[in-house]
Amino acid sequence: MISIPGATFALALLQTGPPLAQLGGTRDDSLLLLMLGIGLLLLSLLVQGLTRLVHPDREIDANPDQAAAPSEYPAIELVSIAMNEQTEKPRMAATRSLLSVDVEDYFQTEAFSSVAPRDTWESYSLRVVDNTKRLLDLFDAYDAKATFFVLGWVADRAPQIVREISARGHELACHSYWHRTIYSLTPDVFRQDTRDAVKAIEDAAGVRVSGYRAPTWSITRKSLWAINVLAEEGFEYDSSVYPVHHDLYGIPGAMTAPYVWKTGHRDLVEIPPATFSVGNMTFPAAGGGYLRIFPLSYSRMAIDQLAQRSQLPVVYLHPWEIDPEQPRLNGPWKSRLRQYWGLDSFELKLTRLLASYRFVPFRQQWRDVVQTGPEIPFTMPGVVVAS
Ligand SMILES: [Zn+2]
Repeated sequence: MISIPGATFALALLQTGPPLAQLGGTRDDSLLLLMLGIGLLLLSLLVQGLTRLVHPDREIDANPDQAAAPSEYPAIELVSIAMNEQTEKPRMAATRSLLSVDVEDYFQTEAFSSVAPRDTWESYSLRVVDNTKRLLDLFDAYDAKATFFVLGWVADRAPQIVREISARGHELACHSYWHRTIYSLTPDVFRQDTRDAVKAIEDAAGVRVSGYRAPTWSITRKSLWAINVLAEEGFEYDSSVYPVHHDLYGIPGAMTAPYVWKTGHRDLVEIPPATFSVGNMTFPAAGGGYLRIFPLSYSRMAIDQLAQRSQLPVVYLHPWEIDPEQPRLNGPWKSRLRQYWGLDSFELKLTRLLASYRFVPFRQQWRDVVQTGPEIPFTMPGVVVAS
């Protein structure tokens, strides 16, 4: 079952390369390309297999597709990936990518949530402040600006770093207060968690927060009601819906380009994380574990493909990912694999991305998604209709 999409993946990538004749190709080149194809086939197996490693020690208790939204919220109909093709043409290639950082510490990840429960967080010494400062210095060196989705818990304990993020020209946004999956919460608890986080961030920095990213990409079909809550709470954009297959998150078939939720209350722009597409298959890319574990060339392919399609490439990372010295937690082997694999090379990969692409924060782009017309290179007229 895996071999067919894997072969398609490899074949499609080979076909995107320049013809051998143009390169003055030789038999050695052919051999090289054949080896590359085999390598990509193996890579596709890795992509399909390893994406299921993320947050392996937790399981969703029900099929998200079958879960009903709370009755007080109208059902939201998702626009299909086919809308990707309905943008007016010709489209300009995107020249900028979005850079995002989910500001949380190494003991707050979902992978170790059973090892480091929330009532023990106070016992850990914070490394997120120093790691975030290192990121700020790195971004300055490459004139990159980012959106920092900050955990409210961190903002309350380290308001100085929140102020510094803002003072150094980056955008502040919300990553919840307690880093709980949204589909594990009721709408009321989610609303309160969000308000607590926004208050902590805004009190720390004195700026308004208008963007949201769910912990563990946990806005799924099961928790789509959260879109309504975010709109009601005054958010302008969200970056939580991962349009991929995954056992813990994602909405397969959702658009890979930015789109607009029509909630009936107010519009909310959705800006998905970067993906790599082959035919109808969509793979996660260019962020977090996908950036750490897979070769950098894979993330580059994803960013380039999205840019060529005038979609907004979104790269994401965490401060603990540039910290190979972080204390090792003794969780399940899959959790350790997920969090510790690739830490040593992550900063080098990030540096190479920063040197290769121009990165801006979400606040510079989300308004463009609302508008339509060929003069807006990133615009996707995807509309989601509330029933
Ligand atoms: Zn997170």
